Amino acid sequence: MRRSSWQRPLGQLNQHQCFPFFWLDVGDADQVGARSHVDGEVLLVISGSVYPAAGRLATLTNPGSRLAWSRAIPHHVAICGSCDDGTVTTSKTLILWDVDHTLIENGGVSKETYALAFELLVGTPPAARPQTDGRTDRSIMAELFAANGVAMTEAHRDALFPTLIEAMKRNADALRLRGHALAGADAALTAVSRDGSFVQSVLTGNIPENAFTKLATFGLHKHLDFEVGGFGSDSIVRADLVAASQAKAGSKYATLFDRGNTILVGDTTRDVEAGVKGGARVLAVATGVDAVEVLRTAGADLVLKDLADTESVLRCLREIASAGAQGS
Ligand SMILES: [Mg+2]
Repeated sequence: MRRSSWQRPLGQLNQHQCFPFFWLDVGDADQVGARSHVDGEVLLVISGSVYPAAGRLATLTNPGSRLAWSRAIPHHVAICGSCDDGTVTTSKTLILWDVDHTLIENGGVSKETYALAFELLVGTPPAARPQTDGRTDRSIMAELFAANGVAMTEAHRDALFPTLIEAMKRNADALRLRGHALAGADAALTAVSRDGSFVQSVLTGNIPENAFTKLATFGLHKHLDFEVGGFGSDSIVRADLVAASQAKAGSKYATLFDRGNTILVGDTTRDVEAGVKGGARVLAVATGVDAVEVLRTAGADLVLKDLADTESVLRCLREIASAGAQGS
């Protein structure tokens, strides 16, 4: 028996019974199961039936399985994993939402915020305007400095994030007046939060403070776990934000998140590229500058024209999650 391989991750959870059967309660998820570890094999027990489960067990978490488990014993979730490396793999999927033009429309306030930050740092407003779509905060500001012929100094770099926070603070009222939540955004976030198989956060080029301000302005922050997001403060390269978020989420949820169980939702080809290069599948929404066909050609797994139909959003996320679990 290689019981020791279970002990570290299990210690982070509520263990209701001891080896060889584990009933684990990790909150309000709607799945149930147990597992045993016999002669070096991992077995998953669902409603009295025993399933061999070498490797990732997410393949067992199709909708039919979930229903069966839920009817058997509600309010528990089966924790699945590999006994070989001691890494617990739950059936959870990490959903990472882009902010601008995916969840909210900022009414031009984002560009004004970068321009104001430039003015606060340099002393004069920029003549050339910022380019934003899908870029990270550091990238936007670096390009803005270059476009205006101003060399970015170490002092500018040190003051960059506090200045962006200050600029966003000054523009918060304008955002409230001129921006809005995109159709279906609140309903989609709420629906995803009710599905125990999902963890949801943000993947945005914004620094965390400003991403929070933008979403909280329209009440969209409630169902997002900001502790595990990928932000513009993590890297200047958007694709790197996927791994940054996966590492944070992996640590918090004792789960290995990779391309098989991470879905990025975004509106630009840069979001699609970040998913493809960074290690996530992509649900694209054509509520930004890029059209459905452009996003599809860029490599999005699925594309919606918007988030207005909550059932469609959930169906797409579950379809992508299922494909990821099966490695297809
Ligand atoms: Mg966007």
